[in-house]
Amino acid sequence: MERIRSNSPCWCGAKTKYKRCHGDRRLLQRDRVEIGVVSPPREVPDHITRPDYVTTGAVGTPRTFQIQDDTSLPRLRHACRVAAEVLEETGRAVAPGVTTDEIDAVAHAAYLSRGAYPSDLHYNGFTKSVCTSVNGVICHGIPDDRPLEDGDIVNIDVTAYIDGMHGDTSATFLVGDVDEPTRALVETTREAMLVGIAAIRPGEPLKRIGEAIEPFARSRGFTVVRQYGGHGIGETFHAAPHINHHIDRSDDQPFLPGMSFTVEPMLLSGNTTFTQQPDGWTEHIDDAMPSAQFEHTVVVTDTGAEILTVIAGESASPPAV
Ligand SMILES: [Zn+2]
Repeated sequence: MERIRSNSPCWCGAKTKYKRCHGDRRLLQRDRVEIGVVSPPREVPDHITRPDYVTTGAVGTPRTFQIQDDTSLPRLRHACRVAAEVLEETGRAVAPGVTTDEIDAVAHAAYLSRGAYPSDLHYNGFTKSVCTSVNGVICHGIPDDRPLEDGDIVNIDVTAYIDGMHGDTSATFLVGDVDEPTRALVETTREAMLVGIAAIRPGEPLKRIGEAIEPFARSRGFTVVRQYGGHGIGETFHAAPHINHHIDRSDDQPFLPGMSFTVEPMLLSGNTTFTQQPDGWTEHIDDAMPSAQFEHTVVVTDTGAEILTVIAGESASPPAV
């Protein structure tokens, strides 16, 4: 699938040019998200087990893969279920006028009520329980006192630590009335994550994920972030393998049965360069066009992949491709 051109008919089927329909930059443009005031870290009761980096302060990124077996997989499944529940509960609090710090408070309570530790809290100096990335913030936004505005989009990234396992998931939520090109960015990103997961087959190379995601995104005029990828996860928050969401032809490592990792594409609607803000975390796109992200934790099965970060009743199978 080729990248759509400005003067081509829009991908949505409308008989309008792309640049006058879903590619209308005037609609996509919004005010830059400024960094606000960050409240103190929230407390976690002593009976909730912390990951080792919270007590030691040292964060490692092992090069070994995390391969789950019959005893470890149920624990990872549980941590992922909890993460999915926290995300769902937190997402329900998204509304115009709610600050991202209030979102953080809802998430924090949701982790604790399930006996889980918020993996982000005191990870490498991060002091909040989720990441909240609004509009042009591509990832790692710190919850602060900025109220969400009608027409914003916000990614909430949840990682729960329980039973000695981390479960990691994120979704981008619409705040009030969001314009159609931005809604399409959000929906395309969700679908891009799923087509990436659907491409996983044991024995096939890791690059199958990027080969599925990047052309799909380009066909709708979006760009895939190359600088951030998915990661191995399980007993360690961030480990090998690194998962590219763009095409990297050298990425020949095969998927191994039991291998657990995240698939978390970030899609951009405009400029592809971004800059880390002075807070040391927030990655803001260099224009003010929105970006979106979705994330699941998955495990490679004997035939494909199982999506672990699902709530009860939600499908653990990626869509057929
Ligand atoms: Zn269109």
